Amino acid sequence: MKYISIIGSTGSIGTQTLELVRANEDLAVTTLAAGSNVDLLERQIREFHPHTAVLYDKQRAEELRLRVKDLEVKVLSGPEGLIEAASEPSCSLVVTAVVGMIGIKPTMAAIRAKKDIALANKETLVTAGHLIMPMAKEYGVSIYPVDSEHSAIFQCLQGEAERDVDSLIITASGGPFRTRTKEELKTVTLKDALNHPNWSMGKKITIDSATLVNKGLEVIEARWLFDMDFDRIKVVVQPQSIIHSMVQFKDGGVKAQLGTPDMKLPIQYALYYPERRFLPGDRLDFAALGSISFEEPPVDVLKGLSYAYDAGRTGGSMPAVLNAANEKAVALFLQEKISFTEIYDLIEDAMNAHHVIENPSLTEVLETEQWVYEFIESR
Ligand code: NDP
Ligand code: MG
Repeated sequence: MKYISIIGSTGSIGTQTLELVRANEDLAVTTLAAGSNVDLLERQIREFHPHTAVLYDKQRAEELRLRVKDLEVKVLSGPEGLIEAASEPSCSLVVTAVVGMIGIKPTMAAIRAKKDIALANKETLVTAGHLIMPMAKEYGVSIYPVDSEHSAIFQCLQGEAERDVDSLIITASGGPFRTRTKEELKTVTLKDALNHPNWSMGKKITIDSATLVNKGLEVIEARWLFDMDFDRIKVVVQPQSIIHSMVQFKDGGVKAQLGTPDMKLPIQYALYYPERRFLPGDRLDFAALGSISFEEPPVDVLKGLSYAYDAGRTGGSMPAVLNAANEKAVALFLQEKISFTEIYDLIEDAMNAHHVIENPSLTEVLETEQWVYEFIESR
């Protein structure tokens, strides 16, 4: 049996992970944690019987406690609850599927407790990769990527020596606004932005795909996961989302990982690595597909990618500024308080106003997040 904890079990990645648990008899759940969705978490507890359940929201956690009184499950809440959940003694792997920097502390707790990590929560590596990666090494913990691009790169790197790698080529779908002009972008709506052409995901990451901030965060995530400098991480648009990413080697050879756009493959690969398991679903039909095409990313219109290269190359606390400003801006856009292009304005203003802290501690990373929130609120 393989025992896993899922932090963010009610979200898009979390529920797909649970579909895999449902389909595989050798997977079991020890902990489920979520933010506030008491109804879904209760249903998940009744189906999967974890030892521990966490709702971050204290009031909802109290409600959950009453609802599941008939079961033997410990209900926790708040940041301490998430940390305890991530270090649950009986599990061997933690799936980090929360959205945002709230993922940092539980990830660190899991590493300290020597649990391997299936990492979906990209904001953790983007803002604290300089702390997380050395920690994982120190504690002998493996971090398996769940993000489809990083899983693709990880799969392409199997059996290859680090010295033979020339560069990583991350593919991007380009999102719903790939072919828009700067002028057209000014009038796009929330509904347009939530309409991703290929992938069905949580709301925040769907908006991040439309701005290309997601791709930018992925470039920074790749920098940490594969210890590669930014000059060797490239992005190409591949609108059909069939090639999930590629690795170019020193001899000019390129390996790519292909598949239908289904997150269950990268999630399952991370759960069972180095084994591959059967996964039902559609298979690629190349003749029916006809062609796979490539384009330069529209960096002057969808500016998320350029911001990320800037923030990543500047380093220190700057990626945390990019991430926090984006998080706040996307929340405002989802509440229809700002327009789509104002997301870029907020990110740019915050990055321009910030005084970089080199090699920030966890406290400084979290203070930077707070500074950004206050900076944006005071505008
Ligand atoms: P969702 O918005 O669908 O789900 C987020 C999850 O996090 C929910 O379970 C939510 O609980 C939980 N959560 C939110 N706040 C807290 C909190 N304070 N404490 C505990 N749990 C909390 O997000 P996704 O599944 O789309 O994305 C998760 C992560 O994976 C993100 O970092 C994203 O970038 C990354 N990712 C996602 C992909 C996808 O296909 N969806 C692909 C690649 C990466 P509740 O429901 O109760 O609010
Ligand atoms: Mg991705």
